[in-house]
Parts: sequence; structure tokens; C-alpha cells
Amino acid sequence: MTQPALDLVIAALEKIREENDRAPRASRTALARLQAEVLQKAGTQPLTAPNKAELLAPIRERVRGCTKCPHLACTRTQTVFGVGNPDAELMFIGEAPGVDEDKQGEPFVGRAGQLLTKIIKAMNFAREDVYIANILKCRPDTPAGTFGNRAPTPIEMQTCRPYLVEQIEIIEPKVLVALGAVAVEGLLGTRGTMRELRGRWHAYNGIPLMITYHPAYLLRNQAPSEKRKVWEDMLQVLERLERPITERQRNYFL
Ligand code: SF4
Repeated sequence: MTQPALDLVIAALEKIREENDRAPRASRTALARLQAEVLQKAGTQPLTAPNKAELLAPIRERVRGCTKCPHLACTRTQTVFGVGNPDAELMFIGEAPGVDEDKQGEPFVGRAGQLLTKIIKAMNFAREDVYIANILKCRPDTPAGTFGNRAPTPIEMQTCRPYLVEQIEIIEPKVLVALGAVAVEGLLGTRGTMRELRGRWHAYNGIPLMITYHPAYLLRNQAPSEKRKVWEDMLQVLERLERPITERQRNYFL
């Protein structure tokens, strides 16, 4: 295939993908590799496909300048793109940055984030091994003079979701974990109670998806039974990832 023809094919595929994130099935990473291979065959470039970090970088830049939600663009301190290993096999998805995340530019750094980090460590991962992102990249605004965070609206999530879709396409994790019902609604467009959703496997574009409670819920509800539910969900994730599970981990309570 000649380079101009390849460019046309890639442009057409990307247009289809942007209009409908379920099709075509070629991921950004696959397209980038294809392009690098053809360029190499044409003798115009060595065979060095961009790595996943390089593929994420331009999306991060687009997010940084995004004003699709003008009310959030003018109240945010900064955008919160995502953090972690672009080659992660495990990706956590939350709903939106809160006040701490807005300040620091990193998802899950407040009290709920510290609990998520504890969960990740108990799974025998470092925080840097996994990838963490939210549906929304800007903090949902709150009335002046008020404290706390608010949940993102369905329209805000719909507007921002394409960025997350691109992140998932590039990272291609083996397992996704959605934290809380709002994240599930943002990702799948499905509303449900956590009682109905959690503890069993779902799928997002062919990727196994575990739904569990948001760590903020566990901070509000300290009952050991609720914490154990989240840990049992994480044990299922470890099994799906074919990671060794120790006896201590099996009996663990958060
Ligand atoms: S929430 Fe997302 S879509 Fe809305 S302004 Fe921020 S980055 Fe853009």
C-alpha cells in the first residue's frame, strides 16, 4: 500500500472511530504500528512505532486546552488527564477530579485516592504499575463559597468520555475496574445500583470490566462487610490477570 493510500485509510478509520467508538475494531496503537511498518517498508522511516506514552501525549495536550464544557474550563485549576503506566494491564476508572485532584493535577490523590493506593498495594501492584483515569478530566464546579465535590452530570460525562475512550484504546488494559455507579454510567451509559452491578464481570469493548464501590463510599461506610466486598472484587481481578494470590491476600480485609 502506498503512503498516500495508507493515510486515506487511516484517516477514514479514525473518522469512523470518532463517530462511533465501537467501530472500527482497529485500535490507535494498531494503526500507529501499521503506519510505522508501511513507512519502514517504503524506506522513509525506520520501524519504530510510537510507544503508548507517545500516543497518549497529544491527547493529554488536547485535554489541557479543552473548553468543551465552558463552565468547567473556567473554574478548573487544571485538567486531570490520568496517571500511571501506559502499558498497564490494569486500569482503574473513577468519575471526576475532586478538589485535591484539581489542585495537584493527578487523579485519586485525596483521602479516597489514598485508600485506592492502599487497595492497589494490597493487590501487590505499585500505583505506578497501573493506570488511573476519570471519566471527566475537569473538576465539576460547585457554587462559590461551598465546600466538597459534586458528581458529574450525564451531559458532562458524555462530552468528556471520548478522551477516556482514546486512553483505553491506547493502553489496551487486560482488565478495567470501574469505581462506583457514576463511573459505570459514564463508561457504559448504564444506570444501576451498585448492588446490581458490582461483584461480577461486565465488558467494555471486549475488555473484562469489574465494577466495585468507589473508595469514597468505603470512607463513608466503614463496615468491614463493605470493605470485604471490594476486596473480593479485587481478588476476582487478580484471578483474571492470572496473578498469584497468597493465603494472606485471600483472607485480607481492607
Ligand atoms: S470536562 Fe472534559 S470535555 Fe469538559 S472541558 Fe474538561 S476536558 Fe473538556
